[in-house]
Amino acid sequence: HDGSMALHVDQLHAAYGSVPVLEGVSLHVAAGEIVALIGPNGAGKTTLLRAVSGLLPSQGRVLLQGRELQGRAPQLIVQAGLIHCPEGRQLFADLSVEDNLRLGAHLRRDREAIGADVERMGTLFPVLQLRRRQRAGSMSGGEQQMLAVARALMSRPVVLMLDEPSFGIAPLMVERIFSVLRQLNAEGLSALVVEQNARAALDLAHRAYVLEGGRVVLEGPSDELASHPGVREAYLGL
Ligand code: ATP
Repeated sequence: HDGSMALHVDQLHAAYGSVPVLEGVSLHVAAGEIVALIGPNGAGKTTLLRAVSGLLPSQGRVLLQGRELQGRAPQLIVQAGLIHCPEGRQLFADLSVEDNLRLGAHLRRDREAIGADVERMGTLFPVLQLRRRQRAGSMSGGEQQMLAVARALMSRPVVLMLDEPSFGIAPLMVERIFSVLRQLNAEGLSALVVEQNARAALDLAHRAYVLEGGRVVLEGPSDELASHPGVREAYLGL
């Protein structure tokens, strides 16, 4: 095992009933790296995150800093530091912004540091500070996505996995969220980002994988993929 590896997914298989969706997916995220996973609708991107998070049965290997997590319970996987910010945000709409943030830390034992992290999220995303006592469900889609990302960060991820953070929100909000991710990455955060918005994802990530039909069909540094003719045509509309 290479100690610089944050997340290593090896030959992952998953199916819905008898329908295979992931057919031997291998990918990795090095420590301090942002990796994008792009691909068309139905390629299996969400399924990959769900399988890696233990929310869906799978076969293969999932290693977080060398520790085998495949087949383990979702709660243990979260405790190990592999954090999934799901598609559609899944906030507690009737709870306050702050209560949603605190729920992101519910498995942490370092109680005293949690308050400081709530403050930190308010600094990273000033709107969350401003709306701290407000119902999460009362905020705009972009603000709710900020809250979902901040809630995931509250669990102090070793690797943060984001499912379509740009989905359905204004470009300015996408840029704000991605700029926070860049800032945190400069401080050492490792992340795997699933995106339909290939342009934004390739702009954010160091490296990327293209998933099609449950298989990785292309991988490489983001700038190389961004100039790959097939990627330009299929994913960048060029
Ligand atoms: P999208 O961006 O549309 O979410 P995706 O790449 O994330 O695409 P998945 O959501 O992982 O793709 O879906 C992969 C395949 O699995 C699709 O064919 C989808 O129809 C199927 N699928 C997803 N969820 C289920 C489910 N709960 N039961 C059965 N089939 C499913």
